[in-house]
Amino acid sequence: MTLPSLSGNEIRQAFINFFLERGHTFVPSSSLVPGGDQTLLFTNAGMVQFKDIFLGTDKPPYVRATNSQKCMRVAGKHNDLEDVGRDDTHHTFFEMLGNWSFGDYYKKEAIAWAWELLTDVWNLPKENLWATCFEDERGEIERDDEAADYWRQQSGFDPTHVLFFGRKENFWEMAETGPCGPNSEIHLDIGPEHCNRQDDPEHICGVNQGCSRYLELWNLVFIQYNRQDAHTLVTLPAKHVDTGMGLDRIVSVLQGVDSNYMTDLLSPLLDTIQRLTGNIQEEKNLNITPYRVIADHARAITFLIADGVVPGNTGRNYVSRMIIRRAARFGTKIGLQEPFLAKVAETVIRIYGDFYPELRRNRAAILENITREEKRFQRTVEAGVNKLEDQLHQLAGSSTKILPGEQAFDLYATYGLPLEITRDIAKEQGLGVDEDAFRRALERHRIASGAGDVFGQMGDDEVDIYSQLRSELQAQGKLAQDGVTYDPYGNLQIESPVLSLVKDERPINEAHPGDQVEVLLPKTPFYVEAGGQVSDTGKIYSPPLDGEPGWEIRIEDMRKPAAGVIIHTGTVISGHPRVGDQAIACVDAQRRRDIMRNHTATHLLHYQLRQVLGDHALQAGSLVAPDRLRFDFTHSEAVTPDQLTHIESGVNQNILDNDRLQIVLKPLQQAIAEGAMALFGEKYAETVRTITMGDPEPFSYELCGGTHVSETGDIGLFLITNESSVAAGIRRIEAVTGRAAYRLVQHRFQALNQAASILDTSPEQVPDLMRDLLAEMSEARKQITALRHDLATLEFDRSLEQVKTVAGVPVLTSILPGADAETLRQMSDRFRQRYPSGVAVLASLLDGRPILTATVTEDLVERGLHAGELVKAVARPLGGGGGGRPTLGQAGGKDAGKLNQALASVTDWVESKLKA
Ligand code: ATP
Ligand code: MG
Repeated sequence: MTLPSLSGNEIRQAFINFFLERGHTFVPSSSLVPGGDQTLLFTNAGMVQFKDIFLGTDKPPYVRATNSQKCMRVAGKHNDLEDVGRDDTHHTFFEMLGNWSFGDYYKKEAIAWAWELLTDVWNLPKENLWATCFEDERGEIERDDEAADYWRQQSGFDPTHVLFFGRKENFWEMAETGPCGPNSEIHLDIGPEHCNRQDDPEHICGVNQGCSRYLELWNLVFIQYNRQDAHTLVTLPAKHVDTGMGLDRIVSVLQGVDSNYMTDLLSPLLDTIQRLTGNIQEEKNLNITPYRVIADHARAITFLIADGVVPGNTGRNYVSRMIIRRAARFGTKIGLQEPFLAKVAETVIRIYGDFYPELRRNRAAILENITREEKRFQRTVEAGVNKLEDQLHQLAGSSTKILPGEQAFDLYATYGLPLEITRDIAKEQGLGVDEDAFRRALERHRIASGAGDVFGQMGDDEVDIYSQLRSELQAQGKLAQDGVTYDPYGNLQIESPVLSLVKDERPINEAHPGDQVEVLLPKTPFYVEAGGQVSDTGKIYSPPLDGEPGWEIRIEDMRKPAAGVIIHTGTVISGHPRVGDQAIACVDAQRRRDIMRNHTATHLLHYQLRQVLGDHALQAGSLVAPDRLRFDFTHSEAVTPDQLTHIESGVNQNILDNDRLQIVLKPLQQAIAEGAMALFGEKYAETVRTITMGDPEPFSYELCGGTHVSETGDIGLFLITNESSVAAGIRRIEAVTGRAAYRLVQHRFQALNQAASILDTSPEQVPDLMRDLLAEMSEARKQITALRHDLATLEFDRSLEQVKTVAGVPVLTSILPGADAETLRQMSDRFRQRYPSGVAVLASLLDGRPILTATVTEDLVERGLHAGELVKAVARPLGGGGGGRPTLGQAGGKDAGKLNQALASVTDWVESKLKA
């Protein structure tokens, strides 16, 4: 039997087609940044985007799905970084092919289809395939004989090739609690010559025996339990199938090559690197690990940046930075000194761009970010590596073989050397790094710098009470099968019965004034925070009727605590709302219209940013509130005032054009194919809302569930209020529209009119007049300084009449009112010019506080006088201090009342010193 001759891209498509033909819906890969999941740094398996379905909080419009998911395994539970490049089968970034059943088919079909695809369609040798099934080493959970039996029934499957393994290999759990179940892995025996432990006499080749002869290809997970605690598993009413197969691995098998790096997906990257080094084949083979690491990292970084993860200092952005720097350092090992990684990234875009159009769309941002980061690293890498080498050298001579974590952190903080690189270099010399201490130092630093932790905890405790409420109401026929009808796009006021009231997480029948309550209605016009747009506020009330007094709840927030459940949160203002009461739910319309203006304006802003700054300026987050909007985007430097003016006037031109917004629901794939802008980290349903502006030529096309004005002219006016940096490579623009913009203009006008009226001129003349006034003022200041100086000189000259002679030495003490320190110094010089031998102490009052200068001529210094000591002695009774050189000292004091007395002490001081 021969293997089919297929390219990597064709193999991916063949997998998808196989399952499409079996009733599956194709679901595009979600972003590498998990949507709405704070617990996970990166999407690391196909199931991440389906998590809510397994938890029961989301219901998809399909029961069978197939996908090819972008995954990263460089952090947390799944971290394969250390294996990358050193083995043939693990990458940081890879694609996971999957087929899914949500409460539909189960083990029988999943196993039969996997077998059919691998052996019938792709002709893999049946005798070399093995299957593992679950057998609990603790004997608590049932052995998965069901799966084992299905394997044995497959035609041509060798029944001795079913093996049982324990929890670590064959039981999958999402978390400490929640959906879980046994899994069954398919391994391929690629031949004894591929064993990498042939030198180990103890080693016997086998599935899961730790050698590279048996290749894990595909993992079929059967989600059949819900884990409630460490010992309680409850069988799920709806069982699911979740499978994952690494694309690179199946491609290497089908293309008959020995390593993932030799497939047509990765080998062109190695070729590009070879072209850059100019190495001949032998040189390349000698350095195969750097080649592989660079190829792997180039692919990862290309996909990361396309998903908006630009290099930075924390969390995901740190990983992005680390990957580039690590690739750059491996580059230096094969003589690549200049930035080179963008060249490899271009090859990645060429190979993957058809299936992942985001790579082409973000090409400029990808290449630019990579090169900039490489350059930034190059500036310090040599110094950092040298410093590390020194430290390691010292370490090698000592008894400990572990580099302290603080030192590793210092290397990162000072030279930008990521822990992963420090670890690489240490390892090359047989040394280790105290990584826990590194993390503690990093954490201390993060806390000190005010940045948060990226890992949080997931709270699912509440799901139950609301899911329960939903089921009860559905059973009573009060709530539709897909839950609360959500329609924030139509009327802002509806009439509806109160289905339930919740207080302190318990259902209640009646609420009272002052109570904090949650209100459940069968339908709602209130928008629930999503896509940056804040939740609506408003009220739910029941007007007085037939002698009943009526009631009102002020609605302050909205949320979705469980699938199909939407909750209005608020405070009872008056009366006694009861379950079953007929009520009116009414969104604060004025506030909502402000929000809609801001939301549509963010789309216009997004468009203008790309027009003015370039296609790399992509949305990286936003806030749409009633009083302002905030828009974060990828751009490496500050937006210039000139660019800001262009952007602002562009948006206002779009507003004046008064385009009608077209809001259309369509399948996600169609929208993406048509080039709609989707957001990073956002999760989209199968059918999406698309917002288009511009007719006949649409200029803005975005996927968006938010609420919008009907024509751009409704926005009124758009004004940018601020531009700033949020993180490396990410800028933020804040702006106002509509009423807030009008208020801003009004305030500015008032301030300007006031200024004009104070200056007694017209508003247009204010700037010129202000400039003139400032020039006059600075001229006047200069004159005042000159006059002060003249005055002080006059005073000083007059005071020379009071020079006394102490032990034959001329001594002057004098107060020069209004002189500053500089003038006192000048006058001291003047004294010395007049008296080649003498002592002077000059004082003045500045803002009511005495300041003093003392001067002693050189000849008297030789006789033991010291100006610094003198001024210090004089200032002491004034409550001050001072000092200085032997010839010139300065002091300040607090108590102006004692100044005369203090100056009188000078003669005694001089006398006593000269006698001594
Ligand atoms: P392994 O034991 O080889 O690390 P795994 O048990 O971690 O695999 P799963 O979590 O079951 O793998 O993921 C499903 C499939 O994804 C694997 O069968 C394999 O084909 C592929 N896969 C897993 N990790 C990687 C990786 N780092 N690079 C490429 N493919 C991978
Ligand atoms: Mg693994």
